[in-house]
Amino acid sequence: MLPDELRAAVENLAAVPHLLVALDFDGTLAPFVDRPEDARALPGSAEALARLAEPGAAGAEPRTTTALLSGRHLESLRLVARPPEHVLLVGSHGAERYSPETGDEPLTLTDGQETLLAAATAALRDITAAFAGARLEHKPSGVVLHVRQCSTADGEAALSGARAALDGTPGIHVTEGKAVLEAAVVRVDKGVGLDWLRRVSGAGTVVFAGDDVTDEHAFSTLGPDDLGLKVGGGETGAEFRVGTLADVTEFLNLLTSVRRL
Ligand SMILES: [Mg+2]
Repeated sequence: MLPDELRAAVENLAAVPHLLVALDFDGTLAPFVDRPEDARALPGSAEALARLAEPGAAGAEPRTTTALLSGRHLESLRLVARPPEHVLLVGSHGAERYSPETGDEPLTLTDGQETLLAAATAALRDITAAFAGARLEHKPSGVVLHVRQCSTADGEAALSGARAALDGTPGIHVTEGKAVLEAAVVRVDKGVGLDWLRRVSGAGTVVFAGDDVTDEHAFSTLGPDDLGLKVGGGETGAEFRVGTLADVTEFLNLLTSVRRL
């Protein structure tokens, strides 16, 4: 059951002329799994995401725009989320972008950024070689160390080794999430990504839901008329919180019924 205050806030969104609903993917729509490529949204959440902003009659202005805002790179996000074409996408925390009007906005690195990325990749590769279960994910904007499949002790040692190797290197931006550490050579965060979605959609009001510390950048951009939803435990700047991914499905179903009246 959703908290009454959250239900009331969703019902208040019925009258908003144009609403943007932006959602994190892993840990918000899709349960965590050992292999990132196996993640899938809960069926009810995927269906609500597809229906919420289904294109209407030709020429009709959309009342609701939907978007995924993820730390994954765009290719990986598409593979696991299989979003309908009308869903806007932001990958790599804001570094990669897609809208149906403009297509993919590719990311190009400077020579200096390429060199930094090669150095960060080499440093993290040494760490994955030293700890069983640690693995690397390559993105256009950076490299990510995953330790979800390590023992707790190995995971912590791998992460602290990565911090020691990378922290303080000019031009390398280290961000940590749940059992991941990302070294990016492009400075972006989900706040930047959400600002882009707000601008490109033209929506006056925004809903954003996310579960991780990296989502806090997006929550911090929300205004008094927007709605932020934190999934699970941990400190947050979001106004509302739910406990489980099934609650997210219920939230999206309520939002869909409110917006598609
Ligand atoms: Mg997440």
